[in-house]
Amino acid sequence: MRDLQVAVEDKEILRGVNLTVRAGETHAIMGPNGSGKSTLAYAIAGHPKYTVTGGQVLLDGADLLDMTVDERARAGLFLAMQYPVEVPGVSVSNFLRSAVTSVRGEAPKLREFAKDLKAGMDALSIDAAFAQRNLNEGFSGGEKKRHEILQLELLKPKIAVLDETDSGLDVDALRVVSEGINRFRSSGETGVLLITHYTRILRYVKPDFVHVFAGGRIVEQGGPELAEKLEAEGYEAYVKASA
Ligand code: ADP
Ligand code: MG
Ligand code: MG
Repeated sequence: MRDLQVAVEDKEILRGVNLTVRAGETHAIMGPNGSGKSTLAYAIAGHPKYTVTGGQVLLDGADLLDMTVDERARAGLFLAMQYPVEVPGVSVSNFLRSAVTSVRGEAPKLREFAKDLKAGMDALSIDAAFAQRNLNEGFSGGEKKRHEILQLELLKPKIAVLDETDSGLDVDALRVVSEGINRFRSSGETGVLLITHYTRILRYVKPDFVHVFAGGRIVEQGGPELAEKLEAEGYEAYVKASA
């Protein structure tokens, strides 16, 4: 991301974000509520409500901002949403198979897909019955977040943007979700942008870099030790400085 600027309904939210995530790296973006973290995630993914007013977002040299949302996904971008959308009438299994087909450009063999789906669901402690349920409909917060990670594992993107995937999880679900993220990044060939409000998940998913986000830009950068400092001191000083 180079000097990314984004407005929502004519209100400037992102005020020049610069960030490079290389293959094999995990970056945590930490910031208070309303600082623009989800705006960053949505703008990268191409949500139509978020207007890019300046800057670039490159993936392997190609400008994502010139692409439609589906093209971005095929280029290797993945977004786990903070508030996953309920889609009545579409089953989890149909949704996932369609998504895998779209991203790969060809349908996976039914048997291979069924095997991968079962392995993914087992690893995330998702009950087999979920495959036939309507997408996210009536899912608990934790079930929605596990399903986001199931998508991640099946779609195997180059770069994953995870927007508060840890929020609303109990300790057991947090561990299961973190293990999924760690499996995803274990190849060392993918990048992770882990957006979070809390330091808790960073005990399970060790970031290489931590960025503090306030007022629509990165105001501080460091290693994992920065997360510990935030835990102790909070965001207040950064919010004041960015105002
Ligand atoms: P965070 O994820 O860090 O909590 P957001 O990106 O959700 O922050 O919000 C940043 C700011 O942008 C807030 O002031 C919020 O009210 C505003 N905003 C975000 N999305 C929208 C939207 N769709 N319509 C209007 N305002 C929005
Ligand atoms: Mg928020
Ligand atoms: Mg948010």
